Amino acid sequence: MLKKQNIAVIGSGFGALSAAIRLVSQGHNVTIYEKLDKPGGRAYQYELNGFKFDGGPTVITAPHQYDELFELAGKKREDYLTFVPLDPFYRIFNGNGDHFNYWRDQDKTEQEIARFSPSDIQGYRIFLNKMNAIFEWFHPFTEKSFSTLFSFLRIFPYVFKTGTWRSMYSFASMHVKNDFIRKILSFHPLLIGGNPFDTPSIYGLIIGFEKEWGVHYCLGGTGAIVNALCRVFEDSGGTIKLNTEVSRLLIEKNRISGLCLANGSVVKTDSVVCNGDIAFCYKHLIPHENLPRALNLWLNNIQYSNSLVVIYFGTKKKYTDSRLSHHNLILGNDYKKFMKDVFSRKKMPRELGLYLHMPSATDPSIAPEGCESFYVLSLVPNLDGKIKWAEIIDDYTDKILNFLEENYLPDLKENIIVQHTVSPLHFASTLNSFKGAAFSIKPSMAQSGYFRPQVKSKWFKDLYFVGAGVHPGAGVPAVMASGKIAAADISEINQI
Ligand SMILES: Cc1cc2nc3c(=O)[nH]c(=O)nc-3n(C[C@H](O)[C@H](O)[C@H](O)COP(=O)(O)OP(=O)(O)OC[C@H]3O[C@@H](n4cnc5c(N)ncnc54)[C@H](O)[C@@H]3O)c2cc1C
Repeated sequence: MLKKQNIAVIGSGFGALSAAIRLVSQGHNVTIYEKLDKPGGRAYQYELNGFKFDGGPTVITAPHQYDELFELAGKKREDYLTFVPLDPFYRIFNGNGDHFNYWRDQDKTEQEIARFSPSDIQGYRIFLNKMNAIFEWFHPFTEKSFSTLFSFLRIFPYVFKTGTWRSMYSFASMHVKNDFIRKILSFHPLLIGGNPFDTPSIYGLIIGFEKEWGVHYCLGGTGAIVNALCRVFEDSGGTIKLNTEVSRLLIEKNRISGLCLANGSVVKTDSVVCNGDIAFCYKHLIPHENLPRALNLWLNNIQYSNSLVVIYFGTKKKYTDSRLSHHNLILGNDYKKFMKDVFSRKKMPRELGLYLHMPSATDPSIAPEGCESFYVLSLVPNLDGKIKWAEIIDDYTDKILNFLEENYLPDLKENIIVQHTVSPLHFASTLNSFKGAAFSIKPSMAQSGYFRPQVKSKWFKDLYFVGAGVHPGAGVPAVMASGKIAAADISEINQI
């Protein structure tokens, strides 16, 4: 029989919602404490003058993960949400403005490769077969913790056999010659805060996720998914407290026994699930004197992902006749140097590396009639870069909008009627992310699998983490999986 617990969940990102719905459906008393005025975390949806802008995730894969949560609550996802498959998944532009449609269908993608480099088709087939095998092999490991080093070391013979210790770009380069095609086959780490030139190609399993389950858009935006999951959670008996920041964790010996809220109240708990950034939690929610030396050492040595500047903008005219698709990646010519600047040198790159989201191409309800809704995301260094964001953000925003106007969206600036920009400072101060990292801990080999924090805290009893900073990593499918792992761990522990 399961012992009913009082569980506090800090934050309301996808990792939190995945854990909270499972825990409440297992019969626990679950309360979510969210510091912001709306749920979702990085998936916060801004509503400005009739436009809706998804703050973060837009590429939705693995719809079965959502289905599972609705089923646990005795409901059907289709009654709440409509997912629309997108094809092409992405339109990728090179530095000359030529574009490549990245389709789900292999033949169609091969036709695209043939336009740029017919001799690379054979290599692409081998690459794809290997990526499919990697997906088959590694996918099960994304749904459980690596509880021992041995459990992690077991994967290494396979990693060596398949060469997946190589970086994504190097792995792609083994199979295709054309540089644009190499970039196209290796960009996926960027979706989770990794540099294609040093992220191990195990993370190519994202390619498998997309091939297996497709890339989807949810009508009403990703915010509609967040709202539906919150409804399901509350209808199942859970409580959400918005505008409620957790300021401290209560510790008794080595156990987390409750929370102190910023408004001064104290909440006693049996377990705490922290969806806030793991480094921020250890550094700011637990008094320094309570941190073991080894934990401090670890905190001082972790490497963090890049950050982002994101401009949400709505135009008073439609751009349906433009060259753009729903998901657009705009890569520069000096790609390798760009990545080095963002990820290693941590200085502002000269070129831009952009993702441009145009959801109103699929869903007119996201913008007022006759208008178009966009967001453009620019990869930038995290706050280790010591860039004076408050001083440069206006000029940087202008640089991006000018670039888009000159190359993709004619007369853009005179047609913008609503605009909101966030810089790395937003990730640091609004979302409490250490160093303003947009994707938490960087996905390197030394910070993956067993070497990434697991959901169950190694240092404090009854403390669990869900979200981008723990195994299996950043990205919505991964953080949803961390919520699943946490709920299973909590209930197993209390099986009596
Ligand atoms: C711009 C952008 C685009 C992205 N695009 C994609 C995409 O297309 N597809 C994809 O799969 N992934 C994407 N990602 C990555 C993905 O969004 C994240 O990895 C994922 O959403 C993170 O979820 P999480 O569970 O870690 O929680 P978060 O979303 O990080 O939420 C954490 C929550 O905790 C709250 N919190 C923190 N501290 C406290 C406290 N002390 N008290 C109370 N509340 C607190 C925060 O306010 C926040 O709401 C994107 C990320 C960004 C930034």
